[in-house]
Amino acid sequence: RIAIEARGIVKQFGEGPSALRALDNVSVAIRENEFFTLLGPSGCGKTTLLRMIAGFEYPTEGAILLHGEDIAGLPPFKRPINTVFQSYALFPHLSVWENVAFGLQMLGRPSAQIGPRVAEMLRLVHMEDLAQRRTDQISGGQAQRVALARALAPAPKVLLLDEPLSALDYKLRKEMQIELKRMQSETGITFVFVTHDQEEALTMSDRIAVMSKGKVLQIGSPWDIYDKPAERFVADFIGETNFLTAAMVGIEGGMARVRLRSGIEIPATIAEGYTPGAQATIVVRPEHARAVKTGGQLAGKVENVVYFGTDTHIYIVLDEGGPFMVRQQNSRSQSCGFEVGDRVGIDIAADAAQVLRD
Ligand code: ADP
Ligand code: MG
Repeated sequence: RIAIEARGIVKQFGEGPSALRALDNVSVAIRENEFFTLLGPSGCGKTTLLRMIAGFEYPTEGAILLHGEDIAGLPPFKRPINTVFQSYALFPHLSVWENVAFGLQMLGRPSAQIGPRVAEMLRLVHMEDLAQRRTDQISGGQAQRVALARALAPAPKVLLLDEPLSALDYKLRKEMQIELKRMQSETGITFVFVTHDQEEALTMSDRIAVMSKGKVLQIGSPWDIYDKPAERFVADFIGETNFLTAAMVGIEGGMARVRLRSGIEIPATIAEGYTPGAQATIVVRPEHARAVKTGGQLAGKVENVVYFGTDTHIYIVLDEGGPFMVRQQNSRSQSCGFEVGDRVGIDIAADAAQVLRD
């Protein structure tokens, strides 16, 4: 079942020549109980879309639907939707307890219900011991938890989280990623999570919408997005990758055969929405290719070798021109076997290549 749907959303700020199209025909359908992430670089329209779902902003065109019903007429406080802002927006002069109770009091919940509910929420975020502390006397990670408890307290159907972890340092951010995921599955609330961090999106989400310049380019599971990127921006933004120009030989049974510039033909999966042409841009993830002494579908020269402990990155300049990077698992017994300046072959795994749209 669909919880929230954005249908054909256009958002224009300003008028005339200086007008800015912050969202350009955006459609997403977010399922109940889903951990759904909007991923994209700064300025691509993530916050604008979130503010529209919350009701703080109105679309220029299109509609927001909650369980299939247009909610244009519902003001923010009447939507069963809550938001955790990047800044947390806690009341500094109130205690942790009072901050969490505040929203429930505003909603006019009977005070007999408020006490137990606040206690339950503070347990959920592991903040029960600091209930009486003022929120200007707690750490960033703790403030984050309080903001979350406050947003969850009224039991919203949907929780919007706008880069909630970006203010935290690396280690705490990693911990909170796991915590957030746990809270989402324990409460069953639909989470719409915003981040510009691709690793965060891949590790936390059920599905991801990749955004760029006001458009949604691709929606899919982390696996879809990483291994079957639809276009160049998606492949490039998420993880490291190699692009090759190839000639399209033919398409059969949903698979393409492409001819690399080396003259060798390989099979490739095809991105959704691909329009057949003579040329194809293909993408190969670095861990789906191996550096070999002889053979391989491509050849080149080793430009750099970087050791990362778990794996080694081998940077290659192809004979046909252009870079290619191979990522190989390390073994304890031997090094990767290549040094700068070596001749090298590249062996692309049978299911590694994907033809991109455009
Ligand atoms: P993100 O959250 O992905 O970083 P935003 O949704 O905040 O991006 O912004 C998208 C674009 O819309 C940006 O170019 C931003 O400057 C512009 N924008 C956002 N809000 C307003 C506003 N109230 N008035 C004018 N431009 C805005
Ligand atoms: Mg933003």
